[in-house]
Amino acid sequence: MKYYNLKDPRIITGFREAVEKGISSDLGLFMPESIPRLDDGFFRRLPYMTLPEIGMAVGSLYTEEDIPGKAMRQICEEAFNFPVVIRQVDERKQVLELFHGPTAAFKDFGARFMAGCFRYFSSHDDKRRVVLVATSGDTGGAIASSFLGVEGVDVIILYPSGKVSSLQEMQLTSLGRNITAIEVEGSFDDCQAMVQSALAGSAVRERVKLTSANSINIARLIPQSFYYYYAIGRTGNGRVVSVPSGNFGNITAAAMAWRSGLGIDRLVAATNINRVVPDYLETGHYFPALSVSTIANAMDVGNPGNFDRFRRVFDDDFGTISGSVSGYWYDDDRIREHIGQEYRRTGYLLDPHGAVASLGLDACLEHHSGSCGIFVATAHPAKFRNIVEPLIGQTVEIPDSLRHFLGGEKHSVLMKAGPQQLEEYLLDRYRTG
Ligand SMILES: *Cc1c(COP(=O)(O)O)cnc(C)c1O
Repeated sequence: MKYYNLKDPRIITGFREAVEKGISSDLGLFMPESIPRLDDGFFRRLPYMTLPEIGMAVGSLYTEEDIPGKAMRQICEEAFNFPVVIRQVDERKQVLELFHGPTAAFKDFGARFMAGCFRYFSSHDDKRRVVLVATSGDTGGAIASSFLGVEGVDVIILYPSGKVSSLQEMQLTSLGRNITAIEVEGSFDDCQAMVQSALAGSAVRERVKLTSANSINIARLIPQSFYYYYAIGRTGNGRVVSVPSGNFGNITAAAMAWRSGLGIDRLVAATNINRVVPDYLETGHYFPALSVSTIANAMDVGNPGNFDRFRRVFDDDFGTISGSVSGYWYDDDRIREHIGQEYRRTGYLLDPHGAVASLGLDACLEHHSGSCGIFVATAHPAKFRNIVEPLIGQTVEIPDSLRHFLGGEKHSVLMKAGPQQLEEYLLDRYRTG
C-alpha cells in the first residue's frame, strides 16, 4: 500500500515513511491510496477470528510492503493482549467496550499498534528514535504505557503544568525508563507549538530520528478499524454503529472498515457541544470553530484533525456522506441526565464519552425503526468518577490497571513555554547521536 498526501496527492510515500513522519512537512495528512475490499472468505471466517487475527489479516493489507506478515502477527498479538467486550444493554442496544487496555481508554489500541511498528523499525537500523508528543491528558498516557521499554526509542511527553488530572499526571510521569515527561509552564497549545517547531526544524534531527506520535499518525488510525470487524463479526450485519467523536479518527476507521465491505447499516457521528460535524451533516457547510470545554473532554475539538480523511473515505461527496452518516450533538446537562437515566433503567454505567454515543444511537434508532445498533464506549467510567458518582449516588470501582498509578512517584522536567526551551533541552540531551 502506498500513501498520498491529502494536501498534494502527487506526494506518495510508503507505510514506514508515513508512520515515521507522522504528518507531511506541509502539514498534509497521509491517506492510503485505496481502501482494499475484503473477500467473502474473510467475512465467512470473521465471526470466529480473534482481534489479533483480524489485525493480521486487515493490517497486512496496509503494511505488507514494509512489515512482513510474521512481524505483523507479532505486533498484533502483543498490542491487542486485552479483551474487547460486547454487552447487551437493552433489546436494541449493544455496547462495544474499548476501555479494557492498560490506560482504560480506547487510545490504547492505536498507541500499542504504533509502538509495535516502531519496535519493528528500530530493530532494523541503529538510529536512535525520539518520539515527541504533546498531550492535554489521555493521549500521553496511552503513548507512555505503549512505548515503555521499547529499545532504541525515547519518548518525550510535553504536558501543561496543573492542567491534567492527578491520575493522568501519574500515568505520564511515574513510568521512567525511556519515558520523559516535560511539565510545561503554559497551555496545551504551547506544548503543541513546541513539538511542532521541533519537528519542523530542530538541529537535533541530524543526530537522531525525530518523530511524533500525534493522533493523525496513520499507524494509530489503521488499528482502530479492527474492532469494528470484530464487533460486527460477533453481532451480525445491518447494525447502526454510533461513535463518540472528537478528532474523528475513530469514526474514520469505522468508515474505512465499512468501505472495505463490512456490513454496517449506518454510522452515527455523536459529539458534545463541539458540533461542527453534526452541523456539516445537516447543512453541507463546514465551519471549524474554537473548542469549548465539556465534561466529555477528550472530545473537545473544534476543528477535527481527521475530518479531511473522513470525507475522503466517501470520495468527498456530500450526498454519499449524508446518506450514510447521521450526526447528533449533546450538551453537558443532557449527557449528565442520560448517565443517570441509563443507570436506573438498565443498570449500565456510562462514562461521559460513551453517554454521547449512547444518546446518538437512541436518536438514530428512533428514525430507523426496526433496526438495532452498537455504541462505542471509549473510556472506563472510573476515569470520570467525580462526574459519574454524584449522578448515580454510588462509588465506582477503579480498575487495577489505573489503581497502581495512584501510589506512583512523579518525575518531570519543569520547562518554561517556548520552542527555544525544548530545542536547548534536546540539543543538550542528544549531544551525540
Ligand atoms: C480521544 C477520545 C475520543 C475521541 O476520539 P477521536 O478519534 O478523536 O474522535 C473519545 N473518547 C475518548 C475517551 C477519547 O480518549
